[in-house]
Amino acid sequence: MNLRKDTKSKVIYDEGRSLRERASKSRQRRKKELRSKVILINSGLALIIIMVILVWKVVSINSQGGSDVNMADAPKHKAEAESDTSQNKKDKKQEEKASPSPAPTEAPSGQDMWLRKDLDPDKPMVALTFDDGPYAPVTEKILKVLEKYNARATFFCVGNRIPSYTEVVKKAYSQGCQIASHTYEHKVLNNLKKNQINAQIKKTDRELQKVVGCSTTALRPPGGFVNDRVKKAVKIPMVCWNVDSEDWKSRNTKKVLGRCRTIEDGDIVLMHDLYPTTAKAVTALVPQLHKKGFQMVTVDELFYYKGIKAEGGTVYYSGK
Ligand SMILES: [Zn+2]
Repeated sequence: MNLRKDTKSKVIYDEGRSLRERASKSRQRRKKELRSKVILINSGLALIIIMVILVWKVVSINSQGGSDVNMADAPKHKAEAESDTSQNKKDKKQEEKASPSPAPTEAPSGQDMWLRKDLDPDKPMVALTFDDGPYAPVTEKILKVLEKYNARATFFCVGNRIPSYTEVVKKAYSQGCQIASHTYEHKVLNNLKKNQINAQIKKTDRELQKVVGCSTTALRPPGGFVNDRVKKAVKIPMVCWNVDSEDWKSRNTKKVLGRCRTIEDGDIVLMHDLYPTTAKAVTALVPQLHKKGFQMVTVDELFYYKGIKAEGGTVYYSGK
């Protein structure tokens, strides 16, 4: 009797237990389903948020007017930002009044820095170029007057001089001036073998990379001497000149200014940032050219606006 009772209660107990187990299993299943639904909803939400951010970014980039304009404007901003720390705040204020600036963007490097795309192609342009530097006492004075008139120039640097004057090279670069090569040791290239020519260019590029983080896009062969071997070896455009200030010869401010009196649209002018007389002449010349309506541009800008597609190994004398 007792045994039967025990068996019956065990059956009831077992049935109760299996019911409880089933209930707990179905609870667990429901929890699992709920969890996977929550995960699904969350990932859906995350996807929507990512898409909204992407759309917003695309819209904001478009509303700034495209990457070309940004790249062209950026040098001015970098130059302005750096001049904040200099003593030229007065000049900066005047510049700001003259040309209100759009929003700054990431600073580009190399050739983007020295190519403004917002110049007036109908106004005359001249490329002032300076060889044999850098030499801080003279280069700095030239940069000062260029900055004041929002003018640019091209500095054909001698590679082995760059480590001694890194600050002035950086300043020239940040002002949007073009930094180009005048070989590493001011060697006449006609006298060199192919591998020696390449070494002169590579070593200068290495110094420029260290200081401004970019390679050069133009070479001025010392003395303007070029032969067929040089043309074959050099892979970047070679830029000579069509107006010679003869500043190295006269070392006379008035004579330099006299030789620059004939400057015309498209000219490339040869000077040297080595002589204090040259700095004096440039300090007078830049306002004169500005008054005459000239835009003082880099060599790259001159070629860009005059429709010249400069090729490696070719010699150019002007933008005409
Ligand atoms: Zn030279």
